[in-house]
Amino acid sequence: MIEKRIQELTEIINKANHDYYVNDNPTITDQEYDRYMEELIRLEKAHPEFKKIDSPTQRVGSEVISSFNKVTHEIPMLSLGDIFNEDEIIEFDERIKKTIKNPKYVAELKIDGLSVSLLYKNGELVRAATRGDGVIGEDITHNAKTIKDIPLRINKPIDIEVRGEIYMSKASFKKLNEGGAGFANPRNAAAGSVRQLDSKVAASRNLSCFIYHLPDPEDYNIYTHFDALNFMHELGFVVNPNNRKINNIKELMNYVDYYTIERSNLPYEIDGIVIKVNDLADQKKLGYTARSPKWAIAYKFPAEEVLTKVKDIICTVGRTGQVTPSAILEPVRVMGSLISKATLHNEDYVLSKDIRIGDIVSIKKAGDVIPEVVKPIIERRDGTEKKFNMVDKCPICGETLFRKEDEAAYYCMNEHCPARVQEKLIHFTSRHAMNIIGFGDRIIEDFYNLGYLKDDGDFYHLYEYKEELKELEGFGEKSIDKLLEKIEKSKNNSLERLLFGLSIRHVGVKTADILARNYKNIDNLMQASFEDLACIKDVGNIIAKSVYEFFKDEKNINLINKLKDAGVNMSYLKEISLEDTLFTGKTFVLTGALDRFTRDEAKARIEQLGGSVSSSVSKKTSVVIAGSEAGSKLMKAKDLGITIWDEETFVNNLSKY
Ligand code: NAD
Repeated sequence: MIEKRIQELTEIINKANHDYYVNDNPTITDQEYDRYMEELIRLEKAHPEFKKIDSPTQRVGSEVISSFNKVTHEIPMLSLGDIFNEDEIIEFDERIKKTIKNPKYVAELKIDGLSVSLLYKNGELVRAATRGDGVIGEDITHNAKTIKDIPLRINKPIDIEVRGEIYMSKASFKKLNEGGAGFANPRNAAAGSVRQLDSKVAASRNLSCFIYHLPDPEDYNIYTHFDALNFMHELGFVVNPNNRKINNIKELMNYVDYYTIERSNLPYEIDGIVIKVNDLADQKKLGYTARSPKWAIAYKFPAEEVLTKVKDIICTVGRTGQVTPSAILEPVRVMGSLISKATLHNEDYVLSKDIRIGDIVSIKKAGDVIPEVVKPIIERRDGTEKKFNMVDKCPICGETLFRKEDEAAYYCMNEHCPARVQEKLIHFTSRHAMNIIGFGDRIIEDFYNLGYLKDDGDFYHLYEYKEELKELEGFGEKSIDKLLEKIEKSKNNSLERLLFGLSIRHVGVKTADILARNYKNIDNLMQASFEDLACIKDVGNIIAKSVYEFFKDEKNINLINKLKDAGVNMSYLKEISLEDTLFTGKTFVLTGALDRFTRDEAKARIEQLGGSVSSSVSKKTSVVIAGSEAGSKLMKAKDLGITIWDEETFVNNLSKY
């Protein structure tokens, strides 16, 4: 099984390498490629017995089979190890620190082009070569000579080899493709242009080149990478002006944050940040693997939209009974998190987008949070894909589904449907509801199946089963006591938490807050007429109808009584005039890590006090709340002269209400 998968991955990667490096025409995306490569590396590590000597994980690029003269690199041209999120940057730093005390780095933009080796004799360009397979490259001197950034003669009559990246600017790429060239990206366009036999073609493509590596620095009495960059600049090479010396991890994160945003304003494509140990003696100590130096790493920017395969489409039942189709995906990383499931909203959405089981689809995070399938890639279909048929019965309890007029969604109307009940119970304990930390979905499912939890009121009777709970696997007296303590504490929550926790249709955190503030206690709310409710600002007919009907339902009245009898608070505990808080009407931006709040908690507190939260800093921002490791947003706020609060100030200001 494992051996077969290793073989399969090897074949996929070898084919992708050929399409990419030899034909300059990729057939899969870079993210898919990186994912296959990561999986292969992982499997080979866990099962070294199946690792082949010629595995693509051990090789750089692809062998050279073109009609260009072959060139041997005396010092191999290697690739770079890849990392994909900020935690891995910290891990890299920690790994380096095991060998090097107090390492200093150079951070550079990772130019999305192809690497080149330039050889000068007596100050004159005599040979330019591609990386090829790292040892054997192609001679592209005739084309390199047409690139204006590559000096034909440098400022000193010395023998030297330098390495860098040939790339095509965004503007040249746009112009080329408008002319119908059809390259997938500037990287492939640059590679395709450099690997032309006729140098007139390369000359017409307007290529550029940054130099970033000196293979033999000691020959010139240079002892740090940064000095090597300056030396090459003095010789007349174009060195990227955005390279920075980095003293610590904080500076590194700031650099990464800054260019994650600024990359869109650069005139050329970058696909990440390269981090290199600065001291050349330190580099030597760290050494190399077969494929890449251990003293450098490439952090690749998260892709906003990535491709993956729909393995299945399943239907799940939510707490309101809504039955939602979801795509089960081959796990893929989007904006830093691993996604294996994405909502497809409803039948109409699946049909209108024609999403099929087996499709390659592009997915992105909607509003940066919830993964969403954008579209199927029709060109990648091979005929084995299956159309989706919406179920007509609840997949959990078998009840026939009901489609409300004017709604796209289907509902399971069975109030006792186990899926609905469990989802409701989970919601009751959630952070913005009763906030009973310690209940995972699995525990609730188990307690439900054992009959201890049937409705929200049962949480406050769980103590009666204490002896039984202690016997359950994974529970001890201590953890049960802790859980019961949390449940007990939740009795003191203010009314809006309870209202949100009750899963009343259309009542979210904000509406729950409005209702609690207006009615002060649950008895007033239960007696409110539909008209009373509909008159409240931000409530309206739909919510009013739903709330009114909820409290007329005997089952719900019984539940409220059960909760009351258990001692759950039914009153609004906060008497704040929202007209006049330090937060009223202001727009806040949260950046960096807060110690005492999650982002969601901080946002909820600001909103409760009349403020709003936005994700980007602009002139309209009133206050930026900066936690530790705050990066580019904080810098921008300072530039714009916006008020900045640290966490302490934020907490102090919250505590005033
Ligand atoms: P890489 O692109 O991940 O990183 C190494 C390269 O970065 C270096 O060789 C160099 O050319 C370049 N680079 C740019 N700026 C640099 C700087 N400042 N300092 C040092 N190096 C810098 O590795 P790779 O081996 O060139 O290519 C592998 C990547 O290419 C894959 O991760 C994938 O994204 C892509 N690829 C895609 C396909 C496909 O089918 N889509 C196939 C093969 C490779």
